[in-house]
Amino acid sequence: MRRPRVYVAYTGGTIGMRRSERGYRPAPGALLERLEAMPELEHEQMPDVEVVEYVPLLDSSDMRPADWVRIARDIVERHDAYDGFVVLHGTDTLAYTASALSFMLRGLRKPVVVTGSQVPLVELRNDARENLVNALLIAGTSRIPEVLVSFGGRLLRGNRAVKVSSDGFDAFDSPNHPVLGRLGTRIEIRHHRIRPADDRPLALEAVGDAKVGALRLFPGVDAEVLRNVLRPPLQGLVLECYGVGNAPVSDEAFLGALAEAAARGVVIVDVSQCLEGRVSLDDYANTRALRDVGVVSGFDMTVEAALTKLCYLFERGDSPERVRELVQLDLRGELTPPDDG
Ligand code: ASP
Repeated sequence: MRRPRVYVAYTGGTIGMRRSERGYRPAPGALLERLEAMPELEHEQMPDVEVVEYVPLLDSSDMRPADWVRIARDIVERHDAYDGFVVLHGTDTLAYTASALSFMLRGLRKPVVVTGSQVPLVELRNDARENLVNALLIAGTSRIPEVLVSFGGRLLRGNRAVKVSSDGFDAFDSPNHPVLGRLGTRIEIRHHRIRPADDRPLALEAVGDAKVGALRLFPGVDAEVLRNVLRPPLQGLVLECYGVGNAPVSDEAFLGALAEAAARGVVIVDVSQCLEGRVSLDDYANTRALRDVGVVSGFDMTVEAALTKLCYLFERGDSPERVRELVQLDLRGELTPPDDG
């Protein structure tokens, strides 16, 4: 029987870094050298692996939408030639990349497993080896037609993942969505939670440099700050509100800034600062006031998913009204529609 084939896009991140006098930095060649010496990759249960090292390797805090497009394009071009894909990535913006890939890879039929590590593979005690081996096995054998995050023993839907720890080995979770699998003594995949493949043919729906932003509310937030953020050329704002989507609407200048921007066509998406639960704009007089001025619900989306979804929708060239409609629909499993609640 032929071994499954896995393509690895190595984009950078701590997993392949080395220590320097200025702290950890990407080290071209270091990861590949270490992989060649790993007997695990020769194991009969492992897939055949092809690793492509990106130039330049990036600390993921330097990633931009063009980097997401490059990864997505690599996958689309090789989709039929491999059984699955692994993206090795820095943990800092990994959840943004996983979310963006889920929107860009319309009609995906193979697993795309995004992973990285908190400690480089070259260090004695590291989480890189386990994360890498798990990601390769899932990419090679699971046939899950989704963008996934595999990290620290958890398998998560990519567009539900958030980085929850800056130094723990269990750095990612999806607090608002059940895990898709556990990678403990056995690999247990929760097949009933996997989304079926889209019936449309595979297509790359690239994102561009849409002008989007996020603003976290805090008690006393100044309406002038909000007004400045909403100025042209901003197209979309993820407003991180309290609880079920609440905001200080008794401040007329604050509500007025939202109303004026929404009337100009800025798409304002309300997401919750809570890690669990969902936005429900019907619940309070305050939340209804937001809806009345044109703010739309982000339901239970992560900030990462909401921002990348806006980038994706604006790139399609849809009108603000259409973006408002689509941002509230479940496109890739990134939100739970109200009736599934
Ligand atoms: N700064 C690193 C990065 O995101 C952190 C990591 O990979 O853990 O590239």
